[in-house]
Amino acid sequence: MTQSRWLDAELRHDSGVFNKHGVVITRGQGATLWDERGKAYIDCVVGAGVANVGHAHPEVVKAIQEQAATLTVLAQTLPNDKRAEFLTELTRVLPTGLDRVFLCNSGTEAMEAARKFAITGTGRSRFVAAKRGFAGRSLGALAFTWEPKYREPFGDAVDNRHVDFITYGNAEELRAAVTDETAAVILEVVQGEGGVRPATLEFIQEARRVTQERGALLIIDEIQTGFGRTGKMFGVEHYGVIPDGMTLAKAMAGGVPVGAFAMTAAVADRMPAGGHGSTFGGNPLAMAAGLATLRVLKRENLADQAREKGAYMMEKLRAIQSPKIREVRGLGLMIGVELKEKSAPYITALEDAGVLTLAATPLVVRFLPPLVITHEQIDQVVAAFERVLRDVNPRAERQAELARAQGGAQGAAGDVQPG
Ligand SMILES: *Cc1c(COP(=O)(O)O)cnc(C)c1O
Repeated sequence: MTQSRWLDAELRHDSGVFNKHGVVITRGQGATLWDERGKAYIDCVVGAGVANVGHAHPEVVKAIQEQAATLTVLAQTLPNDKRAEFLTELTRVLPTGLDRVFLCNSGTEAMEAARKFAITGTGRSRFVAAKRGFAGRSLGALAFTWEPKYREPFGDAVDNRHVDFITYGNAEELRAAVTDETAAVILEVVQGEGGVRPATLEFIQEARRVTQERGALLIIDEIQTGFGRTGKMFGVEHYGVIPDGMTLAKAMAGGVPVGAFAMTAAVADRMPAGGHGSTFGGNPLAMAAGLATLRVLKRENLADQAREKGAYMMEKLRAIQSPKIREVRGLGLMIGVELKEKSAPYITALEDAGVLTLAATPLVVRFLPPLVITHEQIDQVVAAFERVLRDVNPRAERQAELARAQGGAQGAAGDVQPG
């Protein structure tokens, strides 16, 4: 088959930072994506946990269409009906007290905002973050991102001298790290990029306790766990604590770029007017999409669906008899399967089998299906995974390759040392 001209063009002109797959996706609906040749895929990536309501949800589509024909751009200094309505609906579902919101366009911008508001909100500038944590790619957010490969190419430009990294889950390390110089502790309740690791109750509750004792903020990064993904509207609801701030993005507007830092009035009121901003933040198009998304999430009870379907999927995944699986873990429909070997060959084989998944650390296959995925589609995903675990054998393939190469080398050596 000749390579698609779309793929050619994208490979030619892309910056090169992405590890591109070999298929060109042109359309989506619900949990299904189609490539340019018409092949269907069950999408357990949804833009890395973005399309929680499914691709092209009719209500979100309608809201975008209507808003596009009404008003798409407006400075945040000018109030707007859709923005006001979105903020009202959003703060209604957020934990009590988080009723002030800074609007931006992505997760990394939400983290930037969190960092700045935490500094002005407390008059302190040190932070505590977690090993394996992921906070985004801007230089400011990278300071909280632990994985060295994301930071090292930029050397000293990533200034994280003000960040103490603790072992995720270690309440004692956390307690020791928080001082009266700490502006905020920033944590995910389920580490996403770090391998799909749900925190224990004690860890998150200790984070709340120690920050309260020392006058620091607790900021929960809900960029991946928010909007129903884990079986509650927000992941932190599983832990019975109320944070001082929450970063939001990904699923908030059903696929349209959006980000937010939600916080208490005490934090918001200490930022000087003009101390932060965003040109596109709070634009009416994203607000209309966000409003429709929140309504769909609530009306279709998608958080409950994620809880029930997540339990169903994890049970089926745990029933797979494969010596290659180390652990199945997750919360709601945020699921990771840690293998005893690299996950990449299995992710590629799953794609060939019509199931899109993503890695989370080199060993984990991560499943982030839309919350509207059907049980039948879950069955298909699990069956495909079981098949590729059985049939794909990268180790044997590598060994065969090695044997072939060595066979040649031995032949050459045999000429010198016969017998
Ligand atoms: C995706 C993600 C981010 C970064 O969001 P972007 O929109 O990609 O900038 C930050 N934190 C967490 C937990 C994420 O999953």
